Amino acid sequence: MKFNPVIEHLKVYEPGKPIELVVREFGIDPKDIVKLASNENPYGCSPKVTQAVQESAHLMYRYPDDSMMALKAGLCERFGIDDDQLIIGAGSDQVIEFACHAKLYGGAKILQSEITFAMYQIYAAQCGATVIKSPGIAHDLDAMYALYKEHEPEIIFICAPNNPTGDSLDRIDIENFIERIDHDTLVVVDGAYQEYAAFKDPNKAIDPAALIQKFPHVLYLGTFSKAYGLGGMRIGYGIGSTEIIRSLYKLRPPFNVTTLSLVAAEVALNDQEFVTMAIEDCFKQMEDYKAFALEHQIEAIESYTNFITYRLDGITDSTYIADALLRQGIIVRDLKGYGLNAIRITIGKAEENQRFFNVMKQLLNSGQE
Ligand SMILES: *Cc1c(COP(=O)(O)O)cnc(C)c1O
Repeated sequence: MKFNPVIEHLKVYEPGKPIELVVREFGIDPKDIVKLASNENPYGCSPKVTQAVQESAHLMYRYPDDSMMALKAGLCERFGIDDDQLIIGAGSDQVIEFACHAKLYGGAKILQSEITFAMYQIYAAQCGATVIKSPGIAHDLDAMYALYKEHEPEIIFICAPNNPTGDSLDRIDIENFIERIDHDTLVVVDGAYQEYAAFKDPNKAIDPAALIQKFPHVLYLGTFSKAYGLGGMRIGYGIGSTEIIRSLYKLRPPFNVTTLSLVAAEVALNDQEFVTMAIEDCFKQMEDYKAFALEHQIEAIESYTNFITYRLDGITDSTYIADALLRQGIIVRDLKGYGLNAIRITIGKAEENQRFFNVMKQLLNSGQE
């Protein structure tokens, strides 16, 4: 059977290992497994969300409200934007997909930092686009600007804070960069971890309404998967000028978000207290990760997210460590595939983190190079 030749060269995205797989592969009791691999909220979601979803369960025989009126109203109020500046997707992933399909055709290019969220290049490659990468572990905006001038890409992706490194650009630097980009180029600003960054450092906080007001060529992305604890519900959003949103809407399949996901997101948005509790605890727990790193001479990248990245150069091999942790039921993310000898650890609850420290300590002391 013949397929679109573009598909032949595609790599399959490797998500964090699900708990089920570790249970099966290593015969570990699910209750002994600590998953610190997918940047999920260890506190789950707001109990109000769980209750609302249970109470709405009887609605699942009906198609969802395709106007997504209630959630859109909530997001418009929260961000101070208009209805026609907003699109909701099955995860912000789906909005990335829409953006790629909307802009990439006939030998198009995207520009991104070398070590960033893997889905940008996967969707771009599905559209047959070429991926241009600026080198370095952090976004290098000067290098990106030079590459933009050289290649004239259709989309530039900026991930702030960046996954899988956890660092974040300052808002002012992002704005100064976008200022110099022609309005025919779509600049996607991925704010999947903005709730964390805004809490930790106001200089990193991005106000999507102000951003799209200034720049009609920006698409801002947000998600309910991280701080709101709704990864399993697959719901996220894009905010941009009406011109951009109108085009993305044409690519949206009807009923792209489920009834229960809409309910969950709407209620989650109204419980900011829960989100603040989770973020506060995340940064409190992160102090232990920094202390552990210091004690073991590991370089921990300063993080504005709910995960921390340990660079292991000169200490050990990230794949060895990730595998050895996995055998003991602790799932982290090996970043070797990104070209980094590093592991990314989602900040868990105190007792989960303690399990990680105990096993990690043993592994480091056993001296495997
Ligand atoms: C998790 C994540 C997303 C999207 O997640 P969805 O679950 O699809 O909303 C987007 N960008 C980055 C950088 C992420 O880490």
